[in-house]
Amino acid sequence: MHVDALYTPWSGEFGGEIRVNYPELSNSNFVYGRQMMDNNIKEAVIECKCGSSALTVADGKAILYVQCGCEDCRQALQWGHMKGGVKPDPLPRLYYLRSDIVDVKGKDYMKAFKIREDGRSTRIFCIKCYSVLGVDHPAYQSNVFMIFPKHCNNGGDLSIPLVAYVHMIDYSDDIGPLPTEDVPLFVTNRFQQELQRKFSIPEFANAFKEPMESIRGMTLTSLIESLGPVTVLDLVKGETVIA
Ligand SMILES: [Zn+2]
Ligand SMILES: [Zn+2]
Repeated sequence: MHVDALYTPWSGEFGGEIRVNYPELSNSNFVYGRQMMDNNIKEAVIECKCGSSALTVADGKAILYVQCGCEDCRQALQWGHMKGGVKPDPLPRLYYLRSDIVDVKGKDYMKAFKIREDGRSTRIFCIKCYSVLGVDHPAYQSNVFMIFPKHCNNGGDLSIPLVAYVHMIDYSDDIGPLPTEDVPLFVTNRFQQELQRKFSIPEFANAFKEPMESIRGMTLTSLIESLGPVTVLDLVKGETVIA
């Protein structure tokens, strides 16, 4: 599907002023209708740091916020930093958004990467500034995708409090400060009991279930597919990438 086909006529230019009030036009049915729709939608723009590429999501309210200790998040962000991206935090912050992308800008600057052939996450980087625009993983089932707020400009609502620390098996005080927030901490996904405890947290259970309504745009999975072959970086598992 061509992404331009997702352009909705009333959203105007990408990142346009759809939330601006026009009091002088308040009698216009067109503007009135547009504002009515704005009350129901919570679009947000996720833009790379250099402004070359961006996504607009239909619902910019993050539904899950965790900090991830896994070596793969760390390594992918270290690689991005080595290429000129922002320096990652030792324990990156991750937010999950509904996978419903209604507009895409600068697709030519987007490229999909995996850290290894058997890597399960696919990350879209801007190949100019090495921001991360979104991360997909089979476990998300295309219902959600993940962003790192430090590694893109996120115009959405990231007010949800920290829900948990995850994948802490790969984290230690050699890497960074130990976690301090009093929230559940999960070490691995290996044991059924631990997984069950994780998914007994409403934010986890809700984040990964299918959306109640059909989406308006495309999923991040579809966007990745439209970007062409995924580039495999062949990074050595667990190895630090020095910038
Ligand atoms: Zn960029
Ligand atoms: Zn991770």
